[in-house]
Amino acid sequence: MKQTLIIANWKMNGSILANSKLLIAMLKFHNKLQHVELVICPPFPYLHQVKEYMVGSNIKLGAQNVNENNSGAFTGEVSADMLKEFSCRYVLIGHSERRALFQESNDIIAKKITQAMDAGLTPVLCIGESLEQREKGDAQAVILEQLSCVINDIGLKKFKSVVIAYEPIWAIGTGQTASPEQAQKVHRMIRQYIYGLDPILSKSISILYGGSVNEINAAELIKQKDIDGFLFGGASLKSDSLETICKLK
Ligand code: PGA
Repeated sequence: MKQTLIIANWKMNGSILANSKLLIAMLKFHNKLQHVELVICPPFPYLHQVKEYMVGSNIKLGAQNVNENNSGAFTGEVSADMLKEFSCRYVLIGHSERRALFQESNDIIAKKITQAMDAGLTPVLCIGESLEQREKGDAQAVILEQLSCVINDIGLKKFKSVVIAYEPIWAIGTGQTASPEQAQKVHRMIRQYIYGLDPILSKSISILYGGSVNEINAAELIKQKDIDGFLFGGASLKSDSLETICKLK
């Protein structure tokens, strides 16, 4: 059976002191999480701090972004090999904030996925529609375009190691989560699309939900057949919420 994957996206939050408190709290419950793979994605400067706290635990480390180049004159950027050196296992790619605020195209996102995979990292490809796109009835087309651009670029063989995170933009950080039925409908559509390409992959691939997940709505969301875990932001900064979500079965 697939393990539930829970990815905490701290975004641009934290401080050495605040992180310590959160990490100490996490270490108190991490050994009760056999059924869950928990991944923490802190801002780059805190990767080392999180890594130090997580030694000996089964909590994994991830990054929130990576550059699409291997090395060179890219001031302010971080490469996949550097993330690997800091013990990252996962990297978020194409988060809607990066697509909107930093103009990341499907093309760049595909290149980032290749870089991540070449370095041995598991890319978490974030996809999702805006409210405007949903209201116009374009959600499915947008999501399939985001997926197919990457698959066409990197090839289906490589895509087998990718984790998908469906995050409707209108639900991110708004407190307005997708209902379990809304989320399940999209997750099912994504899985069926992948089934059409590779039936075995459609079963093995993890499709996470993200967008205002909290300790209350997570219980119903995780019961949905095609939701394999969560990518969440706000609630991942509160140890009680994180613990409740991680213990859900
Ligand atoms: P949120 O963020 O849980 O605060 O809505 C999710 C995300 O952006 O990954």
